[in-house]
Amino acid sequence: MDKTGKLFALAKRYLVGGVDSPVRSFAYVGGEPLLIKAGRGCRVFDYDDKEYVDYVLAWGGAILGHGNHRVVKELKSRIKSGLGFGTTNQAEIELAAQIVKAIPFIDKIRFVSSGTEAVMGAVRLARGCTGKNKIIKFINSYHGHADYLLAKAGSGLATLGIAACAGVPDDFVKHTIVVPYGDKNAVKAAFKKYKNQIAAVLVEPVGGNYGVLVPDIGFLKELRSLTRKNKALLIFDEVITGFRFHFGSCAQFFKIKPDLICLGKIIAGGLPIGAYAGSAKVMNRLAPLGKVYQASTFSGNPIVMQAGLVTLRCLEESKNGYKQIKDLNEYLCFNLKKEAQYSGIKLKVAHYESMFSLQFLSKIKFARFYRLMLDQGVFFAPSEFEANFLSFAHTKSDINETLVAAKRAFTRMEKENAVRKH
Ligand SMILES: *Cc1c(COP(=O)(O)O)cnc(C)c1O
Repeated sequence: MDKTGKLFALAKRYLVGGVDSPVRSFAYVGGEPLLIKAGRGCRVFDYDDKEYVDYVLAWGGAILGHGNHRVVKELKSRIKSGLGFGTTNQAEIELAAQIVKAIPFIDKIRFVSSGTEAVMGAVRLARGCTGKNKIIKFINSYHGHADYLLAKAGSGLATLGIAACAGVPDDFVKHTIVVPYGDKNAVKAAFKKYKNQIAAVLVEPVGGNYGVLVPDIGFLKELRSLTRKNKALLIFDEVITGFRFHFGSCAQFFKIKPDLICLGKIIAGGLPIGAYAGSAKVMNRLAPLGKVYQASTFSGNPIVMQAGLVTLRCLEESKNGYKQIKDLNEYLCFNLKKEAQYSGIKLKVAHYESMFSLQFLSKIKFARFYRLMLDQGVFFAPSEFEANFLSFAHTKSDINETLVAAKRAFTRMEKENAVRKH
């Protein structure tokens, strides 16, 4: 057994399923999961020093690639002054100012330590502001692991085939109304049925947790007008999309102003973070100014805030980074489809800007392709339901290397299909 395999055997002894988050276990594709020791640029290395082109990128957070020298340098010098004090600090103020400047429709922000917390905070705030209880969310959208948001929630639940999460009392989800994405009549019907009871509509502006879901901007605009009409808040969960497509929110990209926006992942470049933000009027309802309580020991941690600050500075100063990752992604997706077609393999590639997801005819086919790619040093998201990402560190030659590997994998799968048919 190689070193990575030995480590995973040990991991299984002490961690549940050898992991701290289910999708990491590769349950969908089977076999041993990847354990990563280090990363540089768009490459990661396992414990046997095998190298992979990384499209997982810390589940979207590592948009600059791994070990960006500017981020590392600033963090090294920051870390000498202590790890955290549980008080407000300068980096936190600067990061807040930078995000508020980048997203014109928000005045104030609250930092937390994960996307889950960000969404929980935003929903609580929406309920506190409106005095209403119910929220509308969409089938297969993922908003973190709060009890009442795990209903039909995509992501790891879809990957593992968990229809309803055990341990969530029915009482806890009775205020969550789940409707199909894109179905404005279902949203209208919910507002009618639960008149004056709906506090908020919660939506991922670009779905990233049931494969990549290309946005329906008309529908999102419809949500804006329906929420306004019914005095409910519109919450954009931009934990993935914030700072992913341009230097700011996806909401601006679509020229829509939600009342609250949730951020995470990218805004600390891969360190644990979440944030929610909105107008001063709404945000001031939070304690200590208002009566909606939310607190945390680790919020605004100076190391995390410094990482976010440098990451966002790098993104802001990059001249064409966003355009480059969009173009590279189009090139990659176009050629993946072409090569699959050439080998007679049915493959659906969903992509938007710098995100993509892959879907084969069956889970078995996906798993086979996945293993063949991993063997050749390409690390894709280990489920059809998780999104893949491009980083500013990916180059055309990394993409070409991936395409060569994909072509080999498709050819191999084509041969295996032929053998089965005879
Ligand atoms: C990842 C994610 C979350 C949860 O964030 P965590 O940091 O994992 O708690 C929430 N919403 C969306 C859209 C996400 O992709």
